[in-house]
Amino acid sequence: MITHEEARARILESVSKLEPRSFDRLDALGLVLADDVDSNEDVPPFANTAMDGYAVRAADTRGASEDSPARLRVVGELAAGYAPSTAVGSGEAIRIMTGAPVPEGADAIVMVERTATDDDHVLVMREAESGDHIRPTGGDLRAGQRVFDAGTVLGPASVGVLASLDVARVSAYPRARVGVMSTGDELVESGPLAAGQIRDSNRPMLLSLVADAGCEPVDLGVARDDEQYIVSTIEAGLETCDAILTSGGVSMGEYDFVKLGLRRLSAERPGVEFQWWQVKIKPAKPLVFGTLEGKPVFGLPGNPVSSSVSFELFARPALRTMMGHRDPLRPVVVAVADHAMPRRADGKVYLERVRVRYEDGRFHASRSGDQSSNVLSAMAAANGLTLIPDGEGVPAGGDLPVMLLT
Ligand code: AMP
Ligand code: MG
Repeated sequence: MITHEEARARILESVSKLEPRSFDRLDALGLVLADDVDSNEDVPPFANTAMDGYAVRAADTRGASEDSPARLRVVGELAAGYAPSTAVGSGEAIRIMTGAPVPEGADAIVMVERTATDDDHVLVMREAESGDHIRPTGGDLRAGQRVFDAGTVLGPASVGVLASLDVARVSAYPRARVGVMSTGDELVESGPLAAGQIRDSNRPMLLSLVADAGCEPVDLGVARDDEQYIVSTIEAGLETCDAILTSGGVSMGEYDFVKLGLRRLSAERPGVEFQWWQVKIKPAKPLVFGTLEGKPVFGLPGNPVSSSVSFELFARPALRTMMGHRDPLRPVVVAVADHAMPRRADGKVYLERVRVRYEDGRFHASRSGDQSSNVLSAMAAANGLTLIPDGEGVPAGGDLPVMLLT
């Protein structure tokens, strides 16, 4: 038996980052930068107004108030997108709209709300200070400065920043291509079920988990319980994929052919080494992991909840590491248990499916449904997995560690 932390550490040690590639910035959302990005320009490129109002000389508004406004002559109007054609002289103002460049001579903007019009003049009701409501050149980013370090995960705002700098392409770690295969003679994709058959829920689920992790899913289909077929599908998959996930066939049954097939490969081929772990967790105890030609292969358990939990604990962090993420793990928070979560002291960590919400300044969690390892509907209703340590469990109101799945 091995703890899940130990199993995960061994997995993470044996995977490496994919080769970086150049991406159009719009295709780089969610990817990790492989190189630093420096700014070539100032953002904003010119000093401009943050408000609709009047560009003035602050000195001209000295002592201005509602009772004794400063009266300035309006000598022009300037909208965003246009260069100023007139300067603001002493005793003058220019009507100006948000985003327009600050005209020469002006050193402050007075909000339109603090003014009144008076023929071709404006009455300023409040003193302005030099710099008021002016966004200076380079106030966001300066030409030559570091904008993003290598290792940055590009979010939507990062893509916007790249656009503000006219950076069209970036070097980033690509999405891992991940092949997904189900195994089991009982599995049917759709249509009527004969006696003993069930539908294949794991493959669509795992393909979705893979996509949700930012990877590119590749459907390798359903394999019958046939050792040779399973092994050759994995090998064929690895010709185009960076990693493979299988489900089913890894426990102690007579027909657990994923385990048997990978065991045979390990024995036959130099450099191929698979691990058959019994992980100290409930659910998802059995796990097969190894690398083939340097590419990770995960034999996930067949029970749908176990398959999903195993993906979250082991495959997702490995795939995220391959895609350059420095912190590939889901966040863990401490929630208040809405009800008692008793358990047996059996040396395992219990990963119960829970619904987490934030209320009154704390996270709270309650079970999302039946906790059997085949009840996928409770997994679908969950947004967290508990990490209940060995012992008696957690009483109602007690501290419950929860890994957030969103
Ligand atoms: P196994 O590990 O292959 O013995 O499978 C364990 C349990 O999970 C059995 O009840 C299987 O029928 C079920 N199972 C295996 N693969 C799938 C799948 N792709 N979709 C739904 N259930 C599955
Ligand atoms: Mg099976």
